[in-house]
Amino acid sequence: MLPSDLIESLKGLPGFDETDFVNIHKEAKPPVSIRGNSRKRKMDDVPFKMDRPVPWCKNGFYLKERPVFTLDPLLHAGAYYVQEASSMFLEQAVKRVLSEIKVNYALDLCAAPGGKSTHLLDLLPDDAVLVSNEVVASRVNILLENIIKWGNANVVVTQNDPLGIGKLEEMFDLMVVDAPCSGSGLFRRDPEAVSEWSLNHVELCSQRQKRILADALPALAPGGFLVYSTCSYSADEDEKIADWIHTQFKLEGVSLEWPDCQNGVVLSESPVFKLPCYRFYPGKVEGEGLFIALFRKSGQNINNELVAAKKNKERKAADFPLSGWLLQADGLEVFRHKEIVFAMPALVHSFYQAFHKKLNIRKSGVRMGEWVHSKLNPDHELALAQLLKREGFPLVNLEKEQALSFLRREAFDISDNVVKSWNLIVYEGYSLGWIKNIGNRFNNYYPKEWRIRMQS
Ligand code: SAM
Repeated sequence: MLPSDLIESLKGLPGFDETDFVNIHKEAKPPVSIRGNSRKRKMDDVPFKMDRPVPWCKNGFYLKERPVFTLDPLLHAGAYYVQEASSMFLEQAVKRVLSEIKVNYALDLCAAPGGKSTHLLDLLPDDAVLVSNEVVASRVNILLENIIKWGNANVVVTQNDPLGIGKLEEMFDLMVVDAPCSGSGLFRRDPEAVSEWSLNHVELCSQRQKRILADALPALAPGGFLVYSTCSYSADEDEKIADWIHTQFKLEGVSLEWPDCQNGVVLSESPVFKLPCYRFYPGKVEGEGLFIALFRKSGQNINNELVAAKKNKERKAADFPLSGWLLQADGLEVFRHKEIVFAMPALVHSFYQAFHKKLNIRKSGVRMGEWVHSKLNPDHELALAQLLKREGFPLVNLEKEQALSFLRREAFDISDNVVKSWNLIVYEGYSLGWIKNIGNRFNNYYPKEWRIRMQS
């Protein structure tokens, strides 16, 4: 049963139809959708029955039915991300931003588990840097796992509160704030959330959203863009926050190139300043509840480009016989910090150098491995990285059941002629991780904490 207070509070909001809304919550199952990793995989290779594309997202697809994703090795290879379709509308906002400015530094402030961050990494140009931040400690590991599987080098993962991020004054050309909310938009997927919903909780969420925005917004560059989104239907967390953003920070609302009602997306307006906002209702769209709005800060975007403060102090690429392992070694800085070797695009490296004392940085660029006796013991991150040149390694191609055993860290048979050394495990052309053949046996280096526990 939907809370009657929720229904009452939504009456009169653009696009809200009580009968449809109640019925859709009784009847329909949420659709299943995935978004492909355009830099890793062609979507026509994915082994599911792809039904239709998600209209607002180039690499988004609905599936005919929900497979057991955990038992698909391609999920663990970062070939795709399982994501609710409405959330993929972020793409329309980012397209609009990229048509206006060059983005050097982008921020995803509330990033775990990584749906919007992996999407941003697909949409942003290679030379932009994404800072993917999650304040809640218990949620950072799943964010790291998903980002590592996605495989980009142009990303920094941080664990900071919005106030800490706000200290990076005027740093980001694009900020995405997918705020924690009362969650009514996901009631169909999480019926238990219904019992936790109350008007009081909406009010608390609205106050928290304002706090988060006020703390973090100093980090928005002049001429930069803010995307604000929630999965709540409540105007107090949505359009009224849009008005508040305009009043407090003088940000202007920006329209997207998506006409009202196209594919069921409802164009709404904030009550006071008539700022353009977009609402998603299940039943109207094939997806769950979502609210999203785009804003722009005044001023000229000057294209922040941090200059590395102490270049050349670390050992560089030329000192390592590793460039043959990397696809685009030219644009990368490869260096060693203590025993760990990293590969980072220049802008990531300079961000790290500028802010590693101010921020709690959990990952930046790609951790290539450990340098031991003038050799690299490769890291799992390197196996999954988009920049890995696979020709640099002996490859072991596995069938599905073998691949699942590898992902469970179980023993499995492979042919005798596996090279005595590090071997890259490959499934359907996509890297899954490392094994090391030590003569009489091989060791499985799939990360313990990521191993799958489900049996077929
Ligand atoms: N953007 C994510 C995605 O697409 O996968 C989903 C983000 S979820 C809607 C909101 C996130 O905000 C959660 O990961 C939550 O831990 C985080 N969060 C909770 N309290 C917060 C706070 N006070 N400041 C910033 N983030 C917070």
